[in-house]
Formats: sequence, C-alpha cells, structure tokens
Amino acid sequence: MLDTYRHKGLRKQLAEVVAQKGIRDLAVLSAIETIPRHLLIPDNALHKFAYQDKPFPIGSGQTISQPYTVAFQTELLELKERDKVLEIGTGSGYQTAVLLELGAKVFSIERQRALFDRTKVLLPQLGYTSAKLFFGDGYKGLPAFAPFDKIIVTAGAPYVPEDLLKQLKVGGILVIPVGEGDTQQMKRIFKVGEQQFEVEELGDFRFVPLLKDKGRD
Ligand code: SAH
Repeated sequence: MLDTYRHKGLRKQLAEVVAQKGIRDLAVLSAIETIPRHLLIPDNALHKFAYQDKPFPIGSGQTISQPYTVAFQTELLELKERDKVLEIGTGSGYQTAVLLELGAKVFSIERQRALFDRTKVLLPQLGYTSAKLFFGDGYKGLPAFAPFDKIIVTAGAPYVPEDLLKQLKVGGILVIPVGEGDTQQMKRIFKVGEQQFEVEELGDFRFVPLLKDKGRD
C-alpha cells in the first residue's frame, strides 16, 4: 500500500477545494490533508481520481462519500476531544478516519458483510486502531454502548430512527440526511431534553439509502 508525496500533494489541493466550498474547521481540513483516501478505495484503477471531490464506488453497490459532504457533516457535529461518536454506515471507513483524526471515540455500524470485513482489516493497517466496528443494522444503533455525545448517519434515511434519538445524550447532536427521493435534506438535531429536540435543516445532499436489517448481498 503506497502513499507517496504525489498523493500528499493531491490531498493538500483537495483540502483547499473543500475549504473553498465553505468548510472552515481547520481540524477537519487537516484530517482531509492527512487521510490516504486512495487506500480506502478498493478498485486500484480509481486511485488516480481519489483526490477529486467526488464519491466513488467501493463495491456492494455502495460509495465512499464525497469529501466535502464528509467535511460538512463532521463540522456540524462540533466535536470535542474524546467525544463518544456513533457512526451509521462505516462503508470505506473514510468518515470513520476523519472522526478519529479529530480525537473522537468512534463506534461505527455497517450492514454489508463484505464492506464490514474489508474495513475492519484496512483501518488498523492505516494506523486507525481505536474505532469499534460493528456488523449490524444502524436503525437500531448500539444500545449496549449508549449514550453517545454525537451520532452521524452517512446514508439517506427515510425518517429519523427513534432508537438513535434515544441513544443520544441530552446536549448531544445527531446529523442525518433525511429523505426518500433522489436527494436528502441534511438535518442537525439537538437533543435539548429527554423528549425535546431542536431541528436545523441545512440543504440538499445525495446519499445511498439507509437500508433495513443486515445485508446479505
Ligand atoms: N461513511 C462511509 C459512507 C459509505 S455509504 C464512507 O465514508 O465511505 C453508506 C454506508 O451505509 C454503506 O456502506 C451502506 O452499506 C451502509 N448502510 C446502509 N444501510 C445501513 C444500515 N441500516 N445500517 C448500517 N449501515 C448501513
């Protein structure tokens, strides 16, 4: 697995592109500059495109998210060092790596066995050893490890899963793209009391769908 000066140069440019699109959080930009995204894309033929600000296929009909989208969602989480974060949709592990770079304690769930198996091996190989990765259904969250300071959903959800709201701390933030059509509305939900929530809507994005139950394909 080769990470070269050329890749590092391309990453610096990618961080600049993402900054130009409006991302201000320096820790997020630095994570983009640091993470060898090409090594998280299984198809070697796509590696030369890995530092374009685009999603790419990662197998099982899924994609590695667009860096701008990853940065946008991460910024919305307002992460503090050691925040306990639940990620729904591990996929390539790119978003997971960004959360780890920002000092979060990460728990991440993936429903596709093939993606789960690959990312579980790959992330530690790249030095990302502390994430707790789970094969399962993200709609249910991880009750055994709740509550979480922050929750991030990286697939388009038809609705906000009740279990995720339950597993969020009071004072916590859930970032989730919601919608069943071609695009989803990015929502940031602040849990202000046990049963009280404040919702912000932050524009349209395009995600693969959050699917029910564990994947067999
Ligand atoms: N965070 C990933 C994004 C991958 S795309 C990255 O940075 O690359 C969304 C991921 O969500 C896919 O891997 C898909 O398999 C997964 N997914 C879809 N429905 C899910 C569910 N119910 N529970 C957990 N993961 C799910």
